[in-house]
Formats: sequence, C-alpha cells, structure tokens
Amino acid sequence: MELAGFTEEQLTVRDAISAITYKFPNTYWQECDQNERDPKEFHAALAKDGWLGIALPEQLGGAGLGISEATMMMQTITQSGAGMAGAQAIHANVYATQPLAKFGTKEQLEETIPKIINGTWRTCFGVTEPNTGLETLKLKTTATKNASGDSYSVTGQKIWITCAQVASKMILLARTTPVEEVKRSTHGLSMFCIGLDRDKPGLDMRKIKKMGGRAVDANEVFFDNYQIPANTLVGEENEGFRIILHGMNAERCLLAGEALGLGYAALERATQYANDRVVFGRPIGQNQGIAHPLADAYMKLEAAKLATYHAARLYDTSRTDSSIPFHSVGVACNSAKYLAAEAAFTACERAVLTHGGMGYAMEYDVERYLRECFVPRIAPVSREMILNYVSEKVLQLPRSY
Ligand SMILES: Cc1cc2nc3c(=O)[nH]c(=O)nc-3n(C[C@H](O)[C@H](O)[C@H](O)COP(=O)(O)OP(=O)(O)OC[C@H]3O[C@@H](n4cnc5c(N)ncnc54)[C@H](O)[C@@H]3O)c2cc1C
Repeated sequence: MELAGFTEEQLTVRDAISAITYKFPNTYWQECDQNERDPKEFHAALAKDGWLGIALPEQLGGAGLGISEATMMMQTITQSGAGMAGAQAIHANVYATQPLAKFGTKEQLEETIPKIINGTWRTCFGVTEPNTGLETLKLKTTATKNASGDSYSVTGQKIWITCAQVASKMILLARTTPVEEVKRSTHGLSMFCIGLDRDKPGLDMRKIKKMGGRAVDANEVFFDNYQIPANTLVGEENEGFRIILHGMNAERCLLAGEALGLGYAALERATQYANDRVVFGRPIGQNQGIAHPLADAYMKLEAAKLATYHAARLYDTSRTDSSIPFHSVGVACNSAKYLAAEAAFTACERAVLTHGGMGYAMEYDVERYLRECFVPRIAPVSREMILNYVSEKVLQLPRSY
C-alpha cells in the first residue's frame, strides 16, 4: 500500500498496532478459525495497551483520536493476516461506543467506558432482527417501561449479533413506541446500553454456524421479558435511531478500513506467490494474465483507500465543523464502505485464483480471506441498500422501494 499522504498520527498508529499484530501470526488465526475459538488473547493485547479507547475521549481513559486513526488501526489489524476475525473481535468496542460517548450520561460513561477500554467488558451491537432485515425502522423488539418507571421489559429477537457470547454489554436498539403510533418513521426506537446477564430470566442466545470469521461468534439473541434498569436508556427515549446513526457512520468507515486491509493482505500473498511459483520455466507473475488482474486489484484498493480516509476525515471534522452536513458524511461513509468491500472482494478472489490449487488450501490463508471478504459486502448495510441510498439521496432518482 502507498503510505504517502497519511498523517503522522495515522502512521504512528499503524506502527504501534503492527508491533502487536506481529505477535499473532497467520497460524494463530488459522487455529482460531478452524476451532471456532475466540481470539481473546488478541483482544486482551489491544486492551492492555489502551487501543480499544482509540477514538474515545481522554477524560474517559481513551486516546482522544478520531475515526481516521481508528480506521487505520482496523486496516492494520486485517492486513496483518488477522482478517475480519481479528477486526470483529474488537470493532464493536470502538464504533458502538461512539454514540454512547456522545449521548450517554456522566454516570453511564464513567461506569461503562473505562471497563470497555481496559478490556474487562466487551460489548456487542444489537440491531439486526430476523423479521425486519435491512428495514431498521420497522424493528420489532420492544422495550416497555414497567409501571414503577424504573425499568423496562425487553421482548423480541436479534440476529447476527457478533461477540454476544463473550460480551458483557450490548448497545441495543429497541422499539419504545409502536410503529403505528409514530409521527415520523425515524421516531419510536430507543438506544440502550444493557448488561447481558445470562443468569437472569428472559435472555437466551444461540450461535450461528457460518462461512468465515469463525473465530468470532455470531448469534441469535432472544429476549423474553428481560428486565433492564431505566437508566440504561442512552439519550432521549424514541430518538434512538438518530443517536445510533453516529455509530453507524463510524462503523462504515471502520468496515471500509477492514476491507482494505484484507484486500491488501490477499494481494501481498498473491504477488509473493506469483513471483515464487515457476511453471513453464517462468514465474507465473510474468504472465500478463496473472499480473494484470493483480495490478487492477491494486488500483481498485488504492482508489477505495482514498474514499475511505476521505470519509473518515469528514466524519471527524464534522464533529467540530457544523458547516459539514450530516448528509455529506453519510454519503461519504456509505460510498467508502461500498468501494472498499468491492475492491477487497476483487483482490481476494484474484489471490485465490493466482494460487491455483493452493488457493484452496488453508495453509495459504487466501481461502480464509475470500470467505471473510463477504462480510463487508453484506454488513452492516448491503451493497444494494448503499446503491439505493446514493440513487435516491445523491442522484435524486425516484425511491425504488
Ligand atoms: C458476519 C456478520 C456479522 C454481523 N454482525 C452484526 C452485529 O454485530 N450486529 C447487528 O446488528 N447485525 C449484524 N449483522 C447483520 C447485518 O448487518 C445484516 O445481515 C445486513 O444488514 C443485511 O440484513 P439482512 O441479512 O436482514 O438482509 P435482508 O434485509 O434480508 O436483505 C437480503 C438481500 O435483499 C436485498 N434487499 C433488501 N431490500 C432491498 C431493496 N429495497 N432493494 C434492493 N435490494 C434489497 C439486500 O441488499 C440483501 O442483498 C451481521 C451480519 C453478518 C453476516
């Protein structure tokens, strides 16, 4: 990857994270993937050096850096060979804490953030539901205030919740006003920062068997009158969608960085193999049929890199510069996630094909990268929904759904 143009902070982050990821070679990630084993040592190593608080305020124990630096951190992690598994083991702690840090009360922040930063608690992000899919504004999980007013009962089902098995906290988006009663579609959902107490009645979870990133768990989570204290509400009741959007734009930047890292890792393995492997008396990389697709993959990654760090910079600048419309940040973050995910897919697929039969062997890692590179294409928002968003909100085309 071309490093010219990055800030000193970003390069410092890259060096420091590389010094940690160096201790977790590809064999570690192969073993975690094959045995579906949580990479808890990796999470602990990043927490030990304070990296989980990279984009959290210094007064809460964070580093006070921005999403631009956090994106570089995530890219460095996936690029090291840790892949999406390494990123997913920690990323919710970085992005899901963004809306909490902005809208949480002093008590909520003091209770939660330091423990997330030092690794005592891990957090997960509970938005997706099986019956509403990408239609977030129709979420069905309810949080109903009890008669006493000091607690809510949560009932409903979430799906695909990464790290729910190992998390102590969940940033939960739940309905506090029935959808038929809301005046605006963006109204009626609330954000909570809840404890996941497996000994309490009303909480159950089941792991989903999946294609890639097998080291990190993904889950169906069932709530059945699960009781949560009223003071777990973050920000205003019914304003949760607006609040959680802050985390979502940050999440898109981080995912874009993660996709880039995965793509560059795959490309590096491919070029190494293309130089080393000799068939018909010449390195396979001497054939343009091998070299050109890799050169094309590189340029696609570089272009997506520019879009990604532009989006992250806009996100960070918009926090203090009110002249940057929220809409512009959304367009940039969504576009970056889309472009980086597609560029990563191109690089990963070509890396497998460059390896011929060995692309299919676990020891060469590129099959793992290919399995994992579907995640940024699907989540946290699909390619199609980003295309819908740009068609409608940027190009002013009629809404298609
Ligand atoms: C590995 C992994 C980890 C995840 N981790 C989390 C997590 O931690 N927390 C969390 O909350 N969620 C998580 N998710 C969920 C993820 O965000 C969703 O899977 C994603 O948003 C897609 O939603 P869906 O699966 O319900 O797709 P659906 O909404 O069912 O859509 C299915 C397909 O139809 C397309 N489609 C739907 N409507 C339209 C339309 N109007 N126009 C064009 N195409 C359309 C979609 O683009 C998609 O291709 C994770 C998912 C995966 C795979």
